[in-house]
Amino acid sequence: MHPIEFRQASWSEPLLFEYKGQRRGIQLPRLHPKIAREVGDPLKRIPSRILRENPPLIPGLSEIEVVKHFTRLSQMNYGVDTGVYPLGSCTMKYNPRVCEDLAHLPQVELLHPLQDEALVQGALELMYRLERWLCALTGMHRFTLQPAAGAQGELTGCLIMRAYFKYKGEEQRDEMLVPDSAHGTNPSSAAMCGFKVIELPSAESGCVSLKALKAALSERTAGLMLTNPNTLGLFEESILEIADLVHEAGGLLYYDGANLQGVMGKARPGDMGFDIVHLNLHKTFSTPHGGGGPGSGPVGVTQELEKFLPVPLVEFDGSKYYLDYDRPFSIGKVHGFYGNFSVLVKAFAYILLMGFKGLRRACEVAVVNTNYFAKKVREIKGFTIPFNPYKPRKHEVVVSAEQLLNETGVSAMDVAKRLMDFGLHPPTVYFPLIVKEPLMMEFTESATKEEIDAYLEALRKISEESYSEPQKVKSAPHSTSVRRVDDVRANHPRTLCLSYRMMMKKQLSL
Ligand SMILES: *Cc1c(COP(=O)(O)O)cnc(C)c1O
Repeated sequence: MHPIEFRQASWSEPLLFEYKGQRRGIQLPRLHPKIAREVGDPLKRIPSRILRENPPLIPGLSEIEVVKHFTRLSQMNYGVDTGVYPLGSCTMKYNPRVCEDLAHLPQVELLHPLQDEALVQGALELMYRLERWLCALTGMHRFTLQPAAGAQGELTGCLIMRAYFKYKGEEQRDEMLVPDSAHGTNPSSAAMCGFKVIELPSAESGCVSLKALKAALSERTAGLMLTNPNTLGLFEESILEIADLVHEAGGLLYYDGANLQGVMGKARPGDMGFDIVHLNLHKTFSTPHGGGGPGSGPVGVTQELEKFLPVPLVEFDGSKYYLDYDRPFSIGKVHGFYGNFSVLVKAFAYILLMGFKGLRRACEVAVVNTNYFAKKVREIKGFTIPFNPYKPRKHEVVVSAEQLLNETGVSAMDVAKRLMDFGLHPPTVYFPLIVKEPLMMEFTESATKEEIDAYLEALRKISEESYSEPQKVKSAPHSTSVRRVDDVRANHPRTLCLSYRMMMKKQLSL
């Protein structure tokens, strides 16, 4: 609990409740003597039936004790500003401070969504311009900025598909094709929208199998949900043929844009034949994913699908910006007001800061970083790259620890836990489902060569340890405040602990 012990084995910080103290964090001013004379002792004026009999079971702490407590907690945390954060699929890149600063300007922060349009022309213009930029980057016709996350963007896209087929009188189209390498939100969103999910097995190349696709397409196909580059980091080279096949069957092509980072400024989903696109502003456009804060998953569509977009859209009549609610074919609203405006401001600032050339450069550096890592990691004993190991990856690469597991008993999860002992953030594990013992790595443009080398060095040491003293790796982490958590128990509703008192009770009864 004191700085000296930091970064040593089992450093920890007690809960505020566990502190013992009877100090005070606040001092209220004395009552004015005149009021005191008139009112008397304020405590005596509170009816005794609502007065506490015993003091509350919380310690009394001074202000600085509380400040130290929260500062120590923040120092135990690991974030994008601490070190590399190669959480595959999440694009955990640096969020320039200037973008944060702009999102916190009082002109932004103090806006009220019910303010008159005439008073928020700047905010409307920002959304209008951001939409145009996203269109230019993706090759789509219009975007809604409302959805709060990628998953909600997917749901919005699926609802648009359903509205489109209803409009065309093709409501029998109730099947959504999803590759087996897809992110779990894809089948979930389709199912939530009432579609029957048809899983497409990947080809040996790790990409969509055209044979499987042809076999699955029918007059019941609503669409195909695809991410490109896919979750293995591989670019779907047959994308034009895939688009033709889906369109010939009367279906629509949905782009899960969570992986846009790998082609940003280089290739556009609109040009690949996609009809609906969602982007994760909180991945590609500088609000870090998983930050626990608000996100944003704008959805773009072709001209043909524009009329189904959620209301309102931001329009410009030549002299002022306004919100258009008069859209009879719209699927309605998917979020209160206009979405998470602060994330839009950060994305706007980031695009302005980088320029389109800068965005392309970020994509290139991210791709080089990942391929540098991929080339070196293949040389470490126990790790392999399944599916076309020598084919360049885009923004991310999936490494398999299957060989390590077979030869030493050390699993991908053990490796991830041991990385924490080296002060490194683990990669994404156990996704995608088509790889055994996967470790999914994404270094983004924010990682330096030195950081990637250090990561590789840690993996090399972990490989050596696995062959010499596997138990050390299997019982990791050893130096974190919380040791290995029970993932299943942590997720189980019956063991869910939402308050300190609940935790105490459960501990007593266990
Ligand atoms: C992150 C991600 C999603 C879901 O996005 P959220 O914003 O987390 O809902 C979907 N697909 C892929 C490939 C992703 O990486």
